[in-house]
Amino acid sequence: TTTPPLFAFDNRYARELEGLYAPWQPAAVPAPRWLRLNHALADELGLDAQALASDTGLAVFAGNQVPDGAQPLAQAYAGHQFGGFSPQLGDGRALLLGEVIDRRGQRRDIALKGSGRTPFSRGGDGKAAVGPVLREYVISEAMHALGLPTTRTLAAVATGETIRRDRALPGAVLTRVAASHIRVGTFQFFAARQDTDKLRRLADHTIARHDPALAGRSDRDLQLLLAVIDRQARLVAQWMGVGFIHGVMNTDNTTVSGETIDYGPCAFLEAYDPATVFSSIDHHGRYAFGNQPGIAHWNLARLAEALLPLLPGDADAAVAQLTEALDTFGTRFDAHWLAVHRAKLGLEAGADDRDRDDHALAIDYLGLLQRHRVDFTLGWRRLSDALRGQPGALQALFGPAGADDLTVWLAHWRTRLQQQGTADDAVADRMDRHNPIHIPRNHLVEAALQAATDAQDLQPFERLLAAVTHPWSEHAADALYARPALPEQQAGYQTF
Ligand code: AMP
Ligand code: MG
Ligand code: MG
Repeated sequence: TTTPPLFAFDNRYARELEGLYAPWQPAAVPAPRWLRLNHALADELGLDAQALASDTGLAVFAGNQVPDGAQPLAQAYAGHQFGGFSPQLGDGRALLLGEVIDRRGQRRDIALKGSGRTPFSRGGDGKAAVGPVLREYVISEAMHALGLPTTRTLAAVATGETIRRDRALPGAVLTRVAASHIRVGTFQFFAARQDTDKLRRLADHTIARHDPALAGRSDRDLQLLLAVIDRQARLVAQWMGVGFIHGVMNTDNTTVSGETIDYGPCAFLEAYDPATVFSSIDHHGRYAFGNQPGIAHWNLARLAEALLPLLPGDADAAVAQLTEALDTFGTRFDAHWLAVHRAKLGLEAGADDRDRDDHALAIDYLGLLQRHRVDFTLGWRRLSDALRGQPGALQALFGPAGADDLTVWLAHWRTRLQQQGTADDAVADRMDRHNPIHIPRNHLVEAALQAATDAQDLQPFERLLAAVTHPWSEHAADALYARPALPEQQAGYQTF
């Protein structure tokens, strides 16, 4: 008897974009061991989770066996890193195995990360460590549970290798699932080489994949830019709504799909301060929480530049069209931001125009969170309790010094809610599905990674993953996961 293949691959990137990647094989590793298989995601992808949980699956996710139908390849891309352009980055430690069609008919990339050196590795070893792999697993799956577009994690396996960073670390491979791995930097790679033919093929492939309604239109490249602008504006608005700091918003980490990618130095805010930076390599705070919308806009301008050679007609006219498209970012971002924060405040858009007032109400609340150094997540979450007539937990977050500010703001908010005329309990329940109680708090993430790295103890990771993939519902048993770090744990926290 023959067993069915683990994946029903249909590899359009490999097929359509020859010359835009390097065919390559994963490196063999000595002693693969499961860290975790994501059964729910396997099921969503139409894969047989039981079959994947086998020794064959383990060998595939470790890079020791290339599954039937895969065409492993390293994608070429460039990118602006912290503002400076690198004409050649590319998959230095990742390989696209192939694409599958999921249960909803969506095409998804299956890729290994940490699978060894490639032609794009430059000085790097092509490897990943257990800690960062589990970090990407728990944070990407938390982001998905929070309802944000994101790459997902299908599997994490330890390799039995020791890899060298600032100290010796256990090696691992992550299997990443993405709507695609096409980045702003993928376009930049071919634009920088003035390879208009490959740029044309990349744009048409991207349109067929992400915006098929645009295929064949003469203005399709401009429309593609507008579509990416809107997806990125929405994504970053959603980041701002959950207190997520990406940490390395380089153009090679900016997808055209609008999914969050690259969970390297990212972290969630604790006490609210828009200047927050967690990454030690971000010396000037370029990627601070409050800068994220502006940086997304900047990255999209780099995409516009890369698309310029594809626009028909006169170059000045093309530049004017691209500039006009870029100028829509602010309005789009504001609309998405308002929608996100209205939901957090239990407000509906309504027929009459309250945009300006609702925006101000949200901004005022953020100002109070900052002034009184309130935990971002709980500051939002405890609003619903106040609406239920139990303001104690919220008042405790603001402390005596914040009591008067809070009272004044709550009165404004209540007045606005009364105009809306919805029952308080219904609003409070709805708010609890927009203001999470469980986020991957930095001290808990660190403790989980440390236990896995130093003692091969995956229990803290499993418990944290269970909590953050159920971000809305509060259980007494999970109280640990709802609490902020102690101030001394928060001070000077660095992800990288
Ligand atoms: P990142 O900062 O994670 O977005 O990565 C930037 C570039 O560095 C990409 O081209 C990566 O493939 C490459 N890179 C990161 N880590 C490694 C590594 N350990 N070995 C080889 N290339 C790497
Ligand atoms: Mg990256
Ligand atoms: Mg990275």
